[in-house]
Amino acid sequence: MKITRITSHVLQYDLPEELGYSQQYYARRTAHLVEVETDEGVTGWGECFGPGNIAIANKTIVEKVIQPMIRGDSALDRDVIWHKVYNLLRDHGQKGMPLQALSGVDIALWDIAGKVAGMPLHQLIGGAHRDAVAAYGYGMMLKRESVEDHIARFRDEAAEIIGMGFRATKMKVGLGPAADIRLCAAVAEGVGDRGQFMVDANHCYTTSDAFFVGRALEEMGAYWFEEPVAPEDLDGYRELRKGLNVNISGGEAEFNRWGWRSILENRGLDIAQPEVCALGGVSEYLRVLALCHTHFTPVINHVWGSAIAVATNLQLLAAMPAIPGGLTPWEPMLEFDTTHNAFRDKLLTKPLDIQSQVARNGGLVSIPQGPGIGVDPDRDFIRAHELDL
Ligand code: CA
Repeated sequence: MKITRITSHVLQYDLPEELGYSQQYYARRTAHLVEVETDEGVTGWGECFGPGNIAIANKTIVEKVIQPMIRGDSALDRDVIWHKVYNLLRDHGQKGMPLQALSGVDIALWDIAGKVAGMPLHQLIGGAHRDAVAAYGYGMMLKRESVEDHIARFRDEAAEIIGMGFRATKMKVGLGPAADIRLCAAVAEGVGDRGQFMVDANHCYTTSDAFFVGRALEEMGAYWFEEPVAPEDLDGYRELRKGLNVNISGGEAEFNRWGWRSILENRGLDIAQPEVCALGGVSEYLRVLALCHTHFTPVINHVWGSAIAVATNLQLLAAMPAIPGGLTPWEPMLEFDTTHNAFRDKLLTKPLDIQSQVARNGGLVSIPQGPGIGVDPDRDFIRAHELDL
């Protein structure tokens, strides 16, 4: 079975309102899907992390750089293809966009492998350690409004997300350390004793500011403090983890096994958040997961993007062993974006319908059982939203 064509579909639409995090505001939702076709009619789907114009550049890498390297290769030789592409790209970028582009292709090749075997991805990896996973709902994005307006909105939104059935919720910060602590207090109040809350700084703090906010989070009982400092600041991560009694999480901006080796050996993470659509696809995710478990670092996948990314992550979460295990082991969660996202809700011929599962099943989401990643995108929907590039 040979690869005949690789196509990137960059989808985009205008959001009903602008959303922000500590680095920028954005007004458009983007998704970058990768379709790999074969000479036997089996087609695989994957997704590349990277919003806006990043997706447009990644499309060029997928179609103009990676495709000529592997067109005509056996679609089932995904590990051979991974190493061939990585070796040829190594001199031009061992992290970042080349790896994001490779990720989408690799996920599509695993989708093909599952379809050929007639097995869902989790079965292909080794079976399901769980048939459902709890979801946490993230929202509480920044807007161009006053601190006081943020505080009132975050309190209401936290209560609303927990009210939807999610067992935990995650907020953004980034208005400055003192204002951010007030935002976190509002979310703690909105959640009350009905669930957990987490705080995502998207690496906006210095280490000393992160200590200032982190000490307040200890008092409020936040479950984790995500990307408090820059991903390159390994010393900052290690100091924060040693000095704070709140879980330090991060890793969504790290790539491949060698990048992950460094951050794990640094001992700066309580919870690792690998992003399968960025770090190198399913092939590399499995190696990174093994590294995380080698260090007994729990993993909660970073999830961003369309229903293709959500389905891929559900497969991976099903196949993730509980380490160290036990009668009531530590369990991963599915990260789920509660903000406006048509690419999550309307892309599939048969939607995952996460929100109604969460509402019906006590916050739990079931694992797709179809072959490969277990979902099929609707081509009419893709055509209606695809950028003409
Ligand atoms: Ca994050």
